[in-house]
Amino acid sequence: MYQCVCDGCGKAYVDEDRGFCAWADESYAADAAYEDGWTEIDGKDYCPDCYDYDEETDEYKPKSDDKQ
Ligand SMILES: [Zn+2]
Repeated sequence: MYQCVCDGCGKAYVDEDRGFCAWADESYAADAAYEDGWTEIDGKDYCPDCYDYDEETDEYKPKSDDKQ
């Protein structure tokens, strides 16, 4: 089974509506997380707490990259 784990805080994605925390395929795990607000940046997965929208570059970026 696969989980989608945040590269920012290390938290695993949990689908609270359906009670899932692991999927049979890695891409299913990622798809479920992305539908719930997670995103991929440079090949890493981030939960909604760990990325920001950068209006200057029109891109999402991990929060840990700058001020903390
Ligand atoms: Zn996170």
